[in-house]
Amino acid sequence: MTPFSAVLFDRDGTLVADVPYNGDPERVRLLPGAAEAVALARSLGLATGVVSNQSGVGRGLITADDVRRVNERADALLGGLDTWVFCPHTPETGCDCRKPRPGLILTAAARLGVPPAACLVIGDIAADVLAARAAGAHALLVPNPATAPAEVARFADQSAPTSSPRSARRSRGRRGRGRLGGARRPLAGHGRLRGLRRPLRGRGRLRAARRSRTGRGRLRPTRRPRTGPVLLLGAR
Ligand SMILES: [Mg+2]
Ligand SMILES: [Zn+2]
Repeated sequence: MTPFSAVLFDRDGTLVADVPYNGDPERVRLLPGAAEAVALARSLGLATGVVSNQSGVGRGLITADDVRRVNERADALLGGLDTWVFCPHTPETGCDCRKPRPGLILTAAARLGVPPAACLVIGDIAADVLAARAAGAHALLVPNPATAPAEVARFADQSAPTSSPRSARRSRGRRGRGRLGGARRPLAGHGRLRGLRRPLRGRGRLRAARRSRTGRGRLRPTRRPRTGPVLLLGAR
C-alpha cells in the first residue's frame, strides 16, 4: 500500500516539452524521465492521469480535437495513462477547471475513483501546486529552467530535489545548450523520478513495495550513473 492512490501529472513542461498551443501530434516530445516516472507510478500500483490547461482552445488557436490528438500521441509515447483531462478555457472565462482552480484534479480523481486527498499532483509551476491544494490533493513541484525562481522558492518544501550545480554543469557540457537541452534534461528527468520517490521515501511500506517489485538493487547502479533517467531510479 502507498499513501497515494493516484499520480496526476501536468502535461506541458512536466511530461512533454512545452510547445505553446501545440495542436500537432508530430511535435510531441517527451521530457527525459517522463515515461519512466509514469512506469514507476504504475509499477507501484498507482492510477495515473494528466491534468492540463489548454487555453489555446478558448483562444481559437487550436481545437479540442487537436488537444485530444496531441494527448493521444503523448499517451502512446508514455505507455498509457488512465485518464486525461484538460481545461479548454481562457483565464478570463473564470471557469472552475483551469489550474490553479481545482476542477481538473477533482474531475480526474472522480474518473479514477479515488479521493482527491489520495492524489499526488506533479507539475512544473505554481498553478499546479495551488490547484492541488485547492482540491485537497498533495503536490510536488518539479522545476525546470522555465519555472519562475520565485515559484521554486515559494514551494521549496514540496519541490523535487535537483542536481547539484556541479552535476548540472557536467550535464550541460555533455548535452548541448538548446532550450530543451542542457540543464533542463538531467534536472527535469532526475527531479521527476526522485520527486516521485521522495514523498514515498521514509515510508517503509512503500520502499519495501518498490523493492519487492523491482528487485533490490536491480535498478541501483554500483557507480554514480553517468546518463539516463532510468538508472537514476535507484540513485541516491
Ligand atoms: Mg506545465
Ligand atoms: Zn476551464
